[in-house]
Amino acid sequence: MNYKIQNWFTTIFIYVLISVQLFAQNKKICITVDDLPTVSYGLNTPEFNLKLTQNIVKAFKAYNVPAIGYVNEQKLYNNSKLVKSSVALLELWLQNGMELGNHTYAHIDFHRSTFNAYTSNIIKGEKITKQLAKKYNTKLQYFRHPYLRIGLRASQADSLNLFLQKHGYIPAPVTIDNDDYLFAYAYSKAFSKKDTTLMKTIGKDYITYMEQKLLYFENQSIKLFNRNISQTLLIHANLLNSKYLNELLAMIQSHGYNFVSQTEILRDPAYQEPITKYGNWGISWIDRWALSRGKKGDFFKGDPVTPEYIKELTK
Ligand SMILES: [Zn+2]
Repeated sequence: MNYKIQNWFTTIFIYVLISVQLFAQNKKICITVDDLPTVSYGLNTPEFNLKLTQNIVKAFKAYNVPAIGYVNEQKLYNNSKLVKSSVALLELWLQNGMELGNHTYAHIDFHRSTFNAYTSNIIKGEKITKQLAKKYNTKLQYFRHPYLRIGLRASQADSLNLFLQKHGYIPAPVTIDNDDYLFAYAYSKAFSKKDTTLMKTIGKDYITYMEQKLLYFENQSIKLFNRNISQTLLIHANLLNSKYLNELLAMIQSHGYNFVSQTEILRDPAYQEPITKYGNWGISWIDRWALSRGKKGDFFKGDPVTPEYIKELTK
């Protein structure tokens, strides 16, 4: 090959390589875990909860994930007595460099409570977590709406946003919403029955389902914003995720994602997109933004569904 042409090819090759790398680096995802310290589905011994938390934290460390866990402080109490072993679970998160956020004290539904009851529950829910955050030199600054319910009307949502702002909280939207909790409930039932075959089937189908969800919301994001925005995944602190988090993170990484913090993910201007449509929804923010831009019917086609046998198992 002519020297000049070869040089030219090399230049192109390096350019393509850099572009591919830059593109890959641009894919960002924040992993958010709700309902801390754990969702135990009745399997509620301190040993069980410790092992579950250790597994989750270990997987995050292995994949360098600056995850955030959203806490329901009510779960730290037993007959109004603070349970030290449960507080220690939250400390495990902080000791390993994760962050904690507020998810209300008792996981209450904004659409079914008064403004005062809801906001007092937010304040009640920061008591322990705020102290812990201080102890580990971090800040309690993010809020996740239970059931992803942000208000039935603009006025309701606006009042809450104002309240959050006044109390030093930033709301944390979810872009990849999913039914991990249904898989987890089915998995815990199989675990209780010691049905290891069923447990494996659920685990395998869970990863496939989560991959479909990831790709679906990637595609929706491209349809809406002409680019893949920084994504926020919601999962829960349950047995299924404690067993399958390594596989879940490997799957996400295989799609070119970098794991980033809650703070970094919210730097994407997409999160400033206005919401103008409200309803009795607990949905992905990508869906909210799409509805607000007047998208209808066909736009939402292809959202992966939870397998029937999982739904049957949770009945
Ligand atoms: Zn929750």
